[in-house]
Amino acid sequence: MEKGSDRVTLGKDDGLRPELVILNERELAEGKIIGVDLGGTRVRAVLSTGTGQILARAEMPTQADQGLEHVLSNIKLTINQVLGLADFSNLVGMAVGAPGPLNPFTGVVFSPPNLPGWSNVPLTAILEKEFHLPVYLGNDANLAALGEYTFGAGKDYRYLVYITVSTGVGGGVIEDGRILQGAKGAAAELGHMTIEYDGPRCNCGNIGCLEILTSGPSIRRRTIELLETGVASKLVDMVGGNLEDITPELIAEAARQGDEAALRIIKETAFFLGVGVTNVLHLYNPEIVVIGGGVSKIGSMLFEPLIEVVHERAMPAFWEGVPIVPTDLGGDIGLYGSIALVLQNYEEARIRKQELAVVGEDEA
Ligand SMILES: [Zn+2]
Repeated sequence: MEKGSDRVTLGKDDGLRPELVILNERELAEGKIIGVDLGGTRVRAVLSTGTGQILARAEMPTQADQGLEHVLSNIKLTINQVLGLADFSNLVGMAVGAPGPLNPFTGVVFSPPNLPGWSNVPLTAILEKEFHLPVYLGNDANLAALGEYTFGAGKDYRYLVYITVSTGVGGGVIEDGRILQGAKGAAAELGHMTIEYDGPRCNCGNIGCLEILTSGPSIRRRTIELLETGVASKLVDMVGGNLEDITPELIAEAARQGDEAALRIIKETAFFLGVGVTNVLHLYNPEIVVIGGGVSKIGSMLFEPLIEVVHERAMPAFWEGVPIVPTDLGGDIGLYGSIALVLQNYEEARIRKQELAVVGEDEA
């Protein structure tokens, strides 16, 4: 049988339903905003008040490998779970954070590597037609920056750079309170700035990108390469000699226990990130730099040497008084970013909701 063909026969509905959690039953009808975070692994939706208090949340696997129609169906199912709890007349709008590349102005998702089968999908148009609510779209890393600016460590600042270091490396720049978009809405692809001009080839085609040097998979690869040279490390025992079982989490754990090889890899990662942050400070002149994603959980072992590199390299005027800190918002940062995007467009959304209702009546 062709790989995957048995899955296709399941059709749009395989009976899988989103998991729903209600956090504030009393105020559900007051829900005004739907925030959605579409990832390659899971799709999540929240219902929030007009001040960003999350009232209910739903999530289910994205099932990205099952293609566009199935994923769209899962997005709608997840949104429906929280939307059904609200009083529709109180709802103002919805925003979706999705993996790029995408165009936030037209609401079209191009062809993200982790959403196979997607090509120029007019996601906001599809969702507006389904739900009769204004829908806004943003690149997940840009929205994370907006979430951090609106609700997190950045809420006392107007100029912020957010960098996420996880399976990939992405970023967002907040310029005087707004997302720096660029001509096609694709600005601030911070993971693909060159750090090492003759370094390893990145998945994007460029060489020595921040992503290929600091992402979780890259840290793992560099560790395995180091241990294969025969360097002693307790990691070898931790995985029973099978180096392929090494994970970024285990590397962090070994480093915490003082393992020299693991510490060396983390210090090297901190160096690359420090060079990246130095570039970012010089380019965008932010008031704060926030770093999130799984790799940031390594904590002070990563941040202290990173900040040292910045202080060595950047011009003092660019780093003095500029905090470089881990995110406040953890795994919900993307959802907070979606809520924040609706908040930024609140008045326009209220007007557009009326327009969409008129279009809906015309079609009926
Ligand atoms: Zn790259």
